[in-house]
Amino acid sequence: MYPASFEYHAPSSIEEALSLLERYGDEGKVLAGGQSLIPLMKLRFASPRALVDLNRIEGLDSIQEDDGYLAIGALVRHKDCERSEALRGRYGVLGDAAPQISDPIVRNLGTVAGSLAHADPQGDWGSALMAAGARVVARGSGGPREIALDELFEGPFTTTLEPTEVITEVRVPDPGPKAGGTYLKLERKVGDFATVAVAVHVSFSDGAVGRAGIALTGVGPRNLRARVAEEALSGRTLDDEAIGEAGRLAAEAAEPRDDMRGSADYKRNVVRVFVERGLRKAREV
Ligand SMILES: Cc1cc2nc3c(=O)[nH]c(=O)nc-3n(C[C@H](O)[C@H](O)[C@H](O)COP(=O)(O)OP(=O)(O)OC[C@H]3O[C@@H](n4cnc5c(N)ncnc54)[C@H](O)[C@@H]3O)c2cc1C
Repeated sequence: MYPASFEYHAPSSIEEALSLLERYGDEGKVLAGGQSLIPLMKLRFASPRALVDLNRIEGLDSIQEDDGYLAIGALVRHKDCERSEALRGRYGVLGDAAPQISDPIVRNLGTVAGSLAHADPQGDWGSALMAAGARVVARGSGGPREIALDELFEGPFTTTLEPTEVITEVRVPDPGPKAGGTYLKLERKVGDFATVAVAVHVSFSDGAVGRAGIALTGVGPRNLRARVAEEALSGRTLDDEAIGEAGRLAAEAAEPRDDMRGSADYKRNVVRVFVERGLRKAREV
C-alpha cells in the first residue's frame, strides 16, 4: 500500500526544523531513519500532512564523551553504535544491544533517538538506555529541556514529547571508572523483536554496587525499570545471594502477557534468569 500524500521538507538546521514543526503542529512529523514511521504511513496508521526530515542537518551524527556524559546525536544509527568503541566496557550495555536490533538494513538507517521517540514497548534502546540512566535533550520553540527516559515513555507508542519538539541528543551519564553490564535478548529468530530482553548496567564503588540499572523489554506496556531490584542491590556486594534476590524482584516487576511468543509465566522466568546472567557478567569488570 502507498502512503497518503504528504508535504516533504528537508531543513538544513534545527532552527528551520523547529519552525516547520511549529507551522504544522500535530499534523507534522519528524523523519529520521524512517524504519518505523514509513511502514506506519504505508499501512495508513499514520497520515501526517508534512514530514520534516532531519537527515540534512549537520552535527547530529556523533557519539562523543562530554563533561560527565556520553552524547549520542539524533542521527546516530544503530549500526554506528554497533561499531563504536565508546560503547564497549563501561557502556557495554549499549554496545551489546546495538547488534541485536533487527537486521543490517534496519540498523543502517534506524536511529537511537527515533527508537526512543517511537516508544515501542519492544524497542531495545528504551531499556538499554534506561538501565544506563540516560536522558534525552528535546528542543522546541521554548528552548531545550532534558527528560529522563522514565518520564519520556507514557505507554505503548506514546511519549511526553510535544509534536513540535525534536530530540537532538541522548545523554548517558558517565558511570565512573568501574562499571559493566550487558543486554540479553530472547527472540524467536534472528532479527525479530524481543520475546523478552533485559538490560543490566552496574557502577561499582569501593567493591560494592554504587548504582544498579535494570530495565525490561517486551514484558509491559512500555520499557520497564525494575526499581525495587535496583534498590535492593545498592551498596551491596554483588554476591550470589544479592544476584538471586535481584533476579526474583525484577521478575516480580515484569508485567508480561500470554501471547504467541510465550506464556506470561515463561517470560517472567526468562526475566529472572537474564537478570541473574546480566549481573554475573557485570561483576566480571
Ligand atoms: C523489520 C523491522 C524490524 C525491527 N526490529 C527492531 C528490533 O528488533 N528492536 C528495536 O528496538 N527496533 C526494531 N525496529 C525499529 C527500528 O529500530 C527503528 O529504526 C526505530 O524504531 C525508529 O528509528 P528511526 O530513526 O527509523 O525513526 P523514524 O521511523 O524516522 O521515526 C519514528 C518515530 O520517531 C519520531 N522521531 C524520529 N526521530 C525523532 C527525533 N529526533 N525527535 C523527535 N521525534 C523523532 C518520528 O516522528 C516517528 O514518530 C525494527 C524495524 C523494522 C522495520
